[in-house]
Amino acid sequence: MAGPASAPPSVEGLIIEGARTAASDGGLIDVLNPSTGERLAQVARATPADVDRAVASARAALESAAWGGMTPADRGRLLFRIAQRIRERAEELALLESRDNGKPLRQARTDVQVAARYFEFYAGAADKIMGHTIPLGPGLLDFTVREPIGVSAQIIPWNYPIQIGGRAASAAMAAGCTVVLKPAEDAPMTALRLGEIALECGTPPGVLNVIPGLGPEAGRALASHPDINQLTFTGSVEVGIAVARMAAGNVVPVVMELGGKSPNIVFADADFDATVKGVTTAIFQNAGQTCSAGSRLLVERKAHDEMVERLKAHTRAMRIGPGPDDPDLGPIISQKQLDTIERYIGIGREEGAEIVAGGRRPAGPALKGGFYIEPTVIDRVGAGMRIAQEEIFGPVLSIITFDDLEEAAAIANRSQYGLVSGIWTRDINKALALATRMKTGQVYVNTYGAGGGVELPFGGYKKSGYGREKGLEALLSYTQVKNVCIRYS
Ligand code: ADP
Repeated sequence: MAGPASAPPSVEGLIIEGARTAASDGGLIDVLNPSTGERLAQVARATPADVDRAVASARAALESAAWGGMTPADRGRLLFRIAQRIRERAEELALLESRDNGKPLRQARTDVQVAARYFEFYAGAADKIMGHTIPLGPGLLDFTVREPIGVSAQIIPWNYPIQIGGRAASAAMAAGCTVVLKPAEDAPMTALRLGEIALECGTPPGVLNVIPGLGPEAGRALASHPDINQLTFTGSVEVGIAVARMAAGNVVPVVMELGGKSPNIVFADADFDATVKGVTTAIFQNAGQTCSAGSRLLVERKAHDEMVERLKAHTRAMRIGPGPDDPDLGPIISQKQLDTIERYIGIGREEGAEIVAGGRRPAGPALKGGFYIEPTVIDRVGAGMRIAQEEIFGPVLSIITFDDLEEAAAIANRSQYGLVSGIWTRDINKALALATRMKTGQVYVNTYGAGGGVELPFGGYKKSGYGREKGLEALLSYTQVKNVCIRYS
């Protein structure tokens, strides 16, 4: 466990123009530790005036010699130094993430490594953002240049702060953009550390501003700011739509990564040991508070009873506890989110589904004050029930039975969402037939996720969003194409 040296300071300023600063009105946000319900820290609460300052600082940095004039190779070296520094500070960052978000320490450790990997991946890409030459015939030379799109506003959620903050900021910086990053009010700590690390590594002031604040206050001011050039948003559908409307008012393009109700489709011929491991990780990791959580389990009728028994045994063995104690399941982020999850479990019951594991708030001295719920498995769920259609954002797995591939495809795609799907079978023909039918941005076969999936384009079909983050694909959002056409004689 951590000694006092790694405890966070009790009050944290915004990072604007390379310096820590209080909010313009001195306002603060209380940040809670969801494992105990106690206050972890206070952070400055950015006002619209602070957003103005941060955007102005990002604009100035964009046009500065220090950043605008930096070669792509040097940008890459800088990003690589940031990756190394994240790794050097990994243990401190993981513990802070675990305290702030509640996630089990080993998951926080993975998140930190993934954040470092984003910087590393985009470090290597910074000097490979190329254009084309377009043949027009004699006397004309035409080429395209991918220029940085400008000031990128990034509004991120509380569920994976360092990973999501890292992925958005690193890609934008690789492309030559500058960033104003607004972490979520519930878990802003590691995003601030990221801003601090960037400065330690020599990032010019103003290139990465980090301004915690409330959604309707700082978030709104940032999304509707006339001087941003691009917006990356990860969060709920409802807020995503509102934010996209604000950005549209200034003709600002948006990358939207919203919710999901992702299916894991299990055939009777699957390797059950691997499947149970994959399926339970997909829903219980981060207490189910993951956009791409595998929250629907579609199981072939023949395999139903065995899968249910295995899932029951698995959940029974899970240890619940405070994130920093590294349990199998940590707390939910807040009382509000815990109440929502409990409400959905109640809705499932009313809809006639059967709770076969969990469903209650666990008790015990170690859990006092925290926001805990048992890992929950609900069987006999109908494909149209609310618990099969709406995102719960908690450790709740809904089981739906199917008879054949056609039916599996129809149920899987019967969703307003389309983020990720998983297919579990030993039959490659079945897997490919289904993969081509999935209306989801990613499809996994006999795995779910790929160690963070840094290299893989990620984003949604339907209401799960648009645009792609991660992989080389993400760079497209942070560049704009200029075409130059020259007549010569
Ligand atoms: P979640 O359900 O994961 O909390 P939200 O969509 O509520 O997701 O929040 C995601 C991010 O959007 C957070 O940083 C939050 O502060 C921000 N946000 C919330 N409401 C607004 C808003 N009205 N305008 C801009 N940003 C907002």
